[in-house]
Amino acid sequence: MTSVTLTNGKIFDANGEQTILDAALRQNVFLEYSCRTGRCGICKTKVVKGETDTIKPEESLTELEKADGEILTCCRVAVTDVSLEAEDLGALVDYPAKTVPCRINSLTKLTDDVVEVILRLPPGQPLKFLAGQYVDVIGRGGIRRSYSIANAPRQDGCIVLYIKRVEAGEMSHYWFNEASPNDLLRLEGPLGTFFFRDNAPGTIVLLATGTGIAPVKALLEHLDANPEKVVGRRVVVLWGNRYPKDLFWEPHFENIAVCYTPVLSRAGEEWPGASGYVQRSLLEGELEMDDLIVYACGSEEMIHSARESLCEEGLPAARFYSDAFVSSN
Ligand SMILES: Cc1cc2nc3c(=O)[nH]c(=O)nc-3n(C[C@H](O)[C@H](O)[C@H](O)COP(=O)(O)OP(=O)(O)OC[C@H]3O[C@@H](n4cnc5c(N)ncnc54)[C@H](O)[C@@H]3O)c2cc1C
Repeated sequence: MTSVTLTNGKIFDANGEQTILDAALRQNVFLEYSCRTGRCGICKTKVVKGETDTIKPEESLTELEKADGEILTCCRVAVTDVSLEAEDLGALVDYPAKTVPCRINSLTKLTDDVVEVILRLPPGQPLKFLAGQYVDVIGRGGIRRSYSIANAPRQDGCIVLYIKRVEAGEMSHYWFNEASPNDLLRLEGPLGTFFFRDNAPGTIVLLATGTGIAPVKALLEHLDANPEKVVGRRVVVLWGNRYPKDLFWEPHFENIAVCYTPVLSRAGEEWPGASGYVQRSLLEGELEMDDLIVYACGSEEMIHSARESLCEEGLPAARFYSDAFVSSN
């Protein structure tokens, strides 16, 4: 048995079989993470002391970062006692993940390629989660896919998912051809560390592409229910899609004002609104980087490009939160 020490003095046990991230989560210590496959890079951390080893390829780390002692906690085990340049997220201690059965309550096609799935949980067993987090849905044969929860916690305990059809996708085939109300599934959650951070500067930017609008909608619902969190602040939402027919959602909130821009990349000249890519539109908005906190969700390409260009413009990397919808295989 070895131990991992964090910057704020928190210590947890580790071993040679479980990734550092899994070891932490099992002991209710929450490090930043999202995809758990080495692709999104959210769990990137620096090793200050000690030795670690990879058990999965660290796809999102550059050679330079590796040489500089950076690791992905979802890919590495501790070989000796280790110290990391990371702190745990105390806000998640009250939201441990669990696996529960659930049934499909309803299925609604929102566009040709997006279905809204509402899942209901057994009475008296609501899932306690923070707006913005995701769940793993476990289907027939144990197939498991991650989906962001598209709502803030609600009275009836139901979980709303926005699911995009992926060409030749195994779980897509189920959702778009086989699924029907009352089907029994399981879900594990809540997962991930995409949630609203209170101690932030004035302008809150929410960037999404496609079904990446799901956790953004959840964050907005959370703010609408707690409008004091955005008093004197600006909430900016940019949602990227290809065509006007892809815009299956619009913000309608009672207690908060949202500055919303749909951005289309293939709409052609008839589209009177913003065109191109969301991250470009954001940069054209002449925002003060000192005053910004960014939450981005959706395609890996958008997130990578948005992080790079915003950080180049002066946004501190620690104020860019994201969930990349990377593929699970
Ligand atoms: C943290 C997280 C949250 C997510 N939340 C959502 C969500 O809210 N809504 C949602 O629709 N999806 C979401 N995803 C993606 C989702 O988990 C699946 O990866 C996706 O739906 C494809 O699953 P599938 O079984 O249909 O396809 P698979 O059988 O996994 O893949 C089939 C083929 O398509 C490729 N592929 C997979 N995904 C994509 C893609 N996005 N674009 C292009 N090619 C792809 C694969 O590499 C493979 O070759 C999320 C992923 C993560 C990691």
